[in-house]
Amino acid sequence: MKNYLITGGAGFIGSNLTQKLLDTGNTVTVVDNLLTGSKENITPFAANPQFHFLQADIISTEWAKELHGQKFDTIFHLASPASPKQYYTHQKETLLVNSTGTLNVLELLKESGSGNVVFTSTSEVYGDPLEHPQKETYWGHVNPVGERSCYDESKRFAEALCMSYVRQQQLDIRIARLFNTYGPNMEREDGRVVSNFIVQSLQNKPITVYNEGKQTRSFSYVSDTVDGLIALSEHGKTGEIYNIGNDTERTILDVAHIIKKATGSDAPVTPIPYPKNVPGDDPQRRCPDLTKARTQLHYNPTISFEDGITKTIPYFKNRFNL
Ligand code: UDP
Repeated sequence: MKNYLITGGAGFIGSNLTQKLLDTGNTVTVVDNLLTGSKENITPFAANPQFHFLQADIISTEWAKELHGQKFDTIFHLASPASPKQYYTHQKETLLVNSTGTLNVLELLKESGSGNVVFTSTSEVYGDPLEHPQKETYWGHVNPVGERSCYDESKRFAEALCMSYVRQQQLDIRIARLFNTYGPNMEREDGRVVSNFIVQSLQNKPITVYNEGKQTRSFSYVSDTVDGLIALSEHGKTGEIYNIGNDTERTILDVAHIIKKATGSDAPVTPIPYPKNVPGDDPQRRCPDLTKARTQLHYNPTISFEDGITKTIPYFKNRFNL
């Protein structure tokens, strides 16, 4: 049985990861400031003696002092606003959690003298990619001052910081580049395509396809993403980067029709211009090349989009009374 620390463990992916690690008998400490994560996501673990929660902002250094002397097998570093609406709203916090916050996580690893860090980066580091599908070796096509830059560039900075600590401090750090993920514990108001379309469908409101919906994404059900992160912590190599996600690419227009059908909704699929609270430079195509994760981590996402959506709809109905 292992001892894990998860920054951002009250968030969407973090709470699913916490659940899986607790279910398999491990001990998990979550650090989260609840800026975009939610207490509701971790309430089910409160009675578990192997679960610990520290409400703190990892930009400060106080939280690390509270954990002083503890040895973690793996620190999963997920803390950061992650949906475009969230990071566009919290630009400074996003820049700081990925820079100063990541520095504090790496210093904690250094002080503890054992274990590893899995840093969760993002497919956004590829920007609006000119290479398809995206391999880990692709350098990306990012606007350094665009409306997404607080996220893209701070994640790129964090990757560079991780690599510096691997090269100069000989620490064991691995990087996951997560692609679009969906499933239970998503926030209703996070502005992501899957949450928006499910809520709109269940309320029979127009399904808001931005632009013409020709842009593509590749969607991973959260249990597959969580399995990828755990596989990375067990089989990944120091200083290596792995795409984690699903490699079935589809248009946003298709997503709208699949979700409409799965909910049995009469809602109209309605193309609209990009709203003001959505950052510009929307990547037009996104699909991971998973060869490295498949061969080195034995990662194999198994949940189809249709099945994953069918599992996700009851969560939205129950949690938000829809
Ligand atoms: N999108 C959309 N309607 C919505 C929300 C999102 O058409 O109500 C599109 C968005 O423009 C993007 C894709 O869906 O092309 C995925 O957006 P999301 O915010 O989920 O994540 P991203 O991949 O951009 O980080």
